[in-house]
Amino acid sequence: MRKITKSLQIEDIPMSIQLPQNERNRQNRPTRNEGKRQTTHDRRLEVIDLQRFPEEKTFSERYKQDDLKEKLKKLYHNKCGYCEQYSESWHVEHYRPKNGGYAWLAYSWDNLLYCCPTCNEHKGSQFEIRGEKAFYIASDLPSIHALGQKYNAHEKPLLLHPEYDLVEDDFVFDENGQILTEQITNERLIYTVSEACKLDRKDLTDRRKEIVVDKLVQDINAVILKNKNNQEVMQTKIQGLIEVFIATSHRETEEFTVFRKYVITHFLQKILLKTLSEIS
Ligand SMILES: [Zn+2]
Repeated sequence: MRKITKSLQIEDIPMSIQLPQNERNRQNRPTRNEGKRQTTHDRRLEVIDLQRFPEEKTFSERYKQDDLKEKLKKLYHNKCGYCEQYSESWHVEHYRPKNGGYAWLAYSWDNLLYCCPTCNEHKGSQFEIRGEKAFYIASDLPSIHALGQKYNAHEKPLLLHPEYDLVEDDFVFDENGQILTEQITNERLIYTVSEACKLDRKDLTDRRKEIVVDKLVQDINAVILKNKNNQEVMQTKIQGLIEVFIATSHRETEEFTVFRKYVITHFLQKILLKTLSEIS
């Protein structure tokens, strides 16, 4: 889980979910569009009145319009906000669940994340908190796209938010890509990994190992085999491989950058020595 930077400035919020101009500064009863054409904001007001999120498509299609999906996809670089895996099929995920007591945030920009179908399915409507649950108040409407931080302060949610929480340094892995939750001290990270999103699931662990560690070992092996008669060239090429591996860990478009960084600081030397000794 890598920190994502998302702007909550009005001009950066997708047009399709924006508040109407006259609503942004209001403190009193919101106004409706009485015309035939229903906007996302009209749906938002209906949801607020109903105090639940209706199942009809006319409500759910409103948080996944093209402009919103394009912005999310770009911000998250086609990677799931939780597992950091590329995912061409993906869901617009509600951090605070629209069907789990937070319907009024169904169209709120800071509540919408890019999430792979598997993490989304595991998470479902889970949202455990340690503090007091937030509820809708009309005076919050003008800041409906940026209420997350305010709610976090008194709700103390266990689930991490990729846009608000920086936890890269709290992860502990083994060199096979397994997350060692028993060695992690951050309670929220443990909840997110083991309870909500199941980031320790086997297929994901295997893929972390394959993409990061196995690929590196394969590349080193190939260089050794190709240059075994010239130690000097071999060393230079291996050095080059390592430099690329380190640079890749800082590239936000790459998968599993958190694990990649962990490998660099904890296992790189060991992997290198092991690979070299197996070949010679
Ligand atoms: Zn995922």
